[in-house]
Amino acid sequence: MNATAPRVPDITIPSELLPADGRFGSGPTKVRPEIAQSLADHATDYLGTSHRQLPVQLMVAELRNGIAELLRAPDGYEIILGNGGSTGFWDCATFGLIENRSHHLAFGEFGGKFASGIKAAPHLAEPSITESEPGTHPALVAVDGVDAYCYPHNETSTGVMLDPSRPDDPDALMLVDATSGAGGLHFDPSAADVYYFAPQKALAADGGLWIAMVSPAAVERIERLAASDRWCPPSLDLKIALDNSRKDQTYNTPALGTVFLTAKTVSWFNDNGGLSWSAGRSAKSAEILYGWADASESASPFVQIESQRSNVVATIDFDDSISADALCDVLRANGIVDTNGYRKLGRNQLRIGMFPAIEPADVEALTHCLDYCVSALS
Ligand SMILES: *Cc1c(COP(=O)(O)O)cnc(C)c1O
Repeated sequence: MNATAPRVPDITIPSELLPADGRFGSGPTKVRPEIAQSLADHATDYLGTSHRQLPVQLMVAELRNGIAELLRAPDGYEIILGNGGSTGFWDCATFGLIENRSHHLAFGEFGGKFASGIKAAPHLAEPSITESEPGTHPALVAVDGVDAYCYPHNETSTGVMLDPSRPDDPDALMLVDATSGAGGLHFDPSAADVYYFAPQKALAADGGLWIAMVSPAAVERIERLAASDRWCPPSLDLKIALDNSRKDQTYNTPALGTVFLTAKTVSWFNDNGGLSWSAGRSAKSAEILYGWADASESASPFVQIESQRSNVVATIDFDDSISADALCDVLRANGIVDTNGYRKLGRNQLRIGMFPAIEPADVEALTHCLDYCVSALS
């Protein structure tokens, strides 16, 4: 062992306080053991078979139909998918959705990263970027001369959510990064033209894919830019992704395990009542955790404006008498993992995933474990 590694305070949380599942990360997140087992049950008739044959195509169809049902896709909207996760989708959008100039709301790591990628793209005009203090979001308002608005539904790094809406700009597309929001947050689907995400966060599956719900206006933009003389690498070409998706395929080989875990988790959400059920579970967990923090002597919610406080990722500040890092280490030593704050924020903070697959009862148990550790550490 490294001699300079800090010692973890020796605190054992009584087992009756522990949650049934100790995974509270913000991505990758808890995968339901039942769904992982069902993948194992298909170890020989699904895994390791061709993605150009019926068993995998049917799974992609289940995923596309399930997402359309979960997100209540309006008439004419389609579900498309490809490889590369949400970061890969940013590159797709850089080539295939933004025509000339975009407007970005940057209020944390992810919104900021997309904006800087666009800034560096030689074929696009200098983007318009509005920032706000960490722990808040800027207002979404119309900007002159842009053809796309880009912002996260949920800023995973700071625990701020922003309800999608349309500023008064009928010709522009609304590109909503729902990586940590999709399935965990209520929204009006007609407010987005492209609602995109990766399945390793609110959808409790694994990484590597991007999935997008696209409006007829977005499809029109994709087709028009693909027909223009702008060069696009084929793996980032949204027209190719659209054509393949319509056949329940991907341009190149997807991770079959990820496709399966996503399709089955989405079916589980839908079988239980769809988005009102899945987002309702996150809302319940959020009520428990923020309620606990508000009542606690040493903890408080980082996000001050209640309507901006995320239902899927809670950021909880601790006062100076408690080291959030020590707390996090003690939790990990007791099987409660990935509660670390976002490093770059540099706060004395825990960040806790409250995605739909996480049992609200486990969030409740977590609050009891926090009480136990806080008093043991004070
Ligand atoms: C995690 C995350 C991403 C990046 O997702 P990858 O699939 O790892 O590329 C993008 N946006 C948001 C809001 C995220 O939470």
